[in-house]
Amino acid sequence: MSEAIGTVGVGEATIPAIKKFNELLELDEAEFMQRTQATFKLGIEFVDWTRKGHTYIHGFGVIGQDWEWLRCHHYWLQAHQRGRARDFADYSINTAAALQNKFMQPRADMADSPIGHIAYAFHFDASLYARYLRAFAEQHGVRRTEGRIVDVGMHDNGDIASVSLEDGRKIKADFFIDCSGFRALLIEQNLKTGYEDWTHWLPCDRAMAVPCARTDPLIPLTRSTARDAGWQWRIGLQHRTGNGHVYSSKFTDDDAAEKLLLSNLDGEQLADPNKLRFRTGKRRKMWNRNCVAIGLAAGFLEPLESTSLHLVQSAAIRLVRLFPDGELDQANIDEYNRQSDFEWERIRDFIILHYWATEREDTEFWRYCRSMELPATLQRKIDLWRSNGRIFREDEELFSEESWIQVFIGQGIIPRSHDPLVGIKSDAQIEQFLGNIASTIDRCVQVMPPHADFVRKFCPAEPL
Ligand SMILES: Cc1cc2nc3c(=O)[nH]c(=O)nc-3n(C[C@H](O)[C@H](O)[C@H](O)COP(=O)(O)OP(=O)(O)OC[C@H]3O[C@@H](n4cnc5c(N)ncnc54)[C@H](O)[C@@H]3O)c2cc1C
Repeated sequence: MSEAIGTVGVGEATIPAIKKFNELLELDEAEFMQRTQATFKLGIEFVDWTRKGHTYIHGFGVIGQDWEWLRCHHYWLQAHQRGRARDFADYSINTAAALQNKFMQPRADMADSPIGHIAYAFHFDASLYARYLRAFAEQHGVRRTEGRIVDVGMHDNGDIASVSLEDGRKIKADFFIDCSGFRALLIEQNLKTGYEDWTHWLPCDRAMAVPCARTDPLIPLTRSTARDAGWQWRIGLQHRTGNGHVYSSKFTDDDAAEKLLLSNLDGEQLADPNKLRFRTGKRRKMWNRNCVAIGLAAGFLEPLESTSLHLVQSAAIRLVRLFPDGELDQANIDEYNRQSDFEWERIRDFIILHYWATEREDTEFWRYCRSMELPATLQRKIDLWRSNGRIFREDEELFSEESWIQVFIGQGIIPRSHDPLVGIKSDAQIEQFLGNIASTIDRCVQVMPPHADFVRKFCPAEPL
């Protein structure tokens, strides 16, 4: 790793899977949050995605509760058709709490209450997080060699043999992990692995990130606001607010994008924008020969659902599960690539859904997104959903049924009907079932503390 090059310096929003990773490392949550100026995240607020002036939330965790054979949303769809349902957001503890800027951790002793099912992730300062994990790794025996790689030595059979540093040192190894970010130093520059380009589905290819002064309230949500040719993020941390504009260079230019970003900050600008270019997609093989690419070297799906850090962590776990002994066995390599492709493609589909499922026609960008041809895997999911509101999580697909349902409903893709088994219940029973869920959630949210108070008590960070 090279101090002179530095890290990409973005990546401040996460998903709940990060908690499992932290548990695996036995990180102390309060300490980790203090050290990274972190706040809690209950979901993502999507502003202007469906149409201008419309907002919905993709909250983590469960929606209501199952009844008999069916997920709660089937009963909601029936009541909605009769004009008798409350807003779908009222059936998720995460969303209902976030709308009032409330937060608390789930209570293990309250499994029967929505409070036992609060699901959360974090917002943190990406540079502090990188520094924190580096110190943690070094404390646990990881040896770090500082230096810029200037040359890569190859074996006659095409495998990587060594890397040479600027100061002349040569480091030989049997196996290499390419974590060089967008440069993809080993996997692409040397192994010429190839890249599967997904720009036709995920057209954003530029980003600008800029911090501004913190403003209150401290919302426990990442906010994503759709813009003319992309979208803007807003992430509230303890010491500042992170902002970024992700856009497509085909539909706007850098100057216009910068102007739009800077004119939509809700606090004083604290630095110049950090400008980044990328191409959505993934390496054709994430493990090629004696090299595995992890992180941005493996590909990039764009940050809309905050999935990249998770993909780094799940890749690390997958590599441990399939780690080679002495010899490289092609069966391990193929399985690693198969699992990675599946994981990436399903996340890709979920993100594409946000762009495609829009009523917006006000710019060329949105007209393109609305009419693009979809991957068959996504089209199949949409068709199934549209008929009877059915959705099934496939294998170890990252996003749960609840996530898909919230984006479908939030972005106005309402199925023609619901599961016919709903008919076993009377309208009155369904109304009572839904009413109980919503009123229980209302009562739970009332007793939850404000997010800012919880953070101040649980993990107050020193001012920087
Ligand atoms: C605009 C944007 C927003 C994002 N937002 C999110 C988000 O909200 N949530 C999320 O989970 N993820 C997000 N990500 C992704 C996240 O930033 C990355 O997954 C994460 O930072 C890991 O990056 P990396 O380590 O692969 O690459 P980098 O951070 O770029 O690190 C690359 C490393 O390689 C080293 N290096 C490169 N070349 C050499 C060389 N020649 N010699 C020696 N060392 C070298 C560098 O010094 C550096 O340490 C975002 C990404 C972008 C672009």
